[in-house]
Amino acid sequence: MKLDATQFRYTPDADKVPKTEVILCGVCGTPCRGPLRMRGPRGYADSLCGKSAWSDYDEWKCPNHGKAWHERIAHMRKWAKSSQSETIKNMIELEIIRILGVTHI
Ligand SMILES: [Zn+2]
Repeated sequence: MKLDATQFRYTPDADKVPKTEVILCGVCGTPCRGPLRMRGPRGYADSLCGKSAWSDYDEWKCPNHGKAWHERIAHMRKWAKSSQSETIKNMIELEIIRILGVTHI
């Protein structure tokens, strides 16, 4: 399964996804590490609601998350998504391909 273009973390309910499933990072395409069994808030909104919003979930996360080039690509994808121009979207995707070719794996 490949995550959305800007998604580097996947947190389904515990045991919902087989542990053998390969989860590919949407940003860079690298297989995510996991699953790790977690308990707590899954995101910002859950953390605001306190312990009542906590749940058990499995977490897969891209090992490249936090690297400058990875953050750059995620930002560029968000930017491309908001653009109305197909030319700009194509230019951004070409730049992403160049970055992945230079820095990735
Ligand atoms: Zn990644």
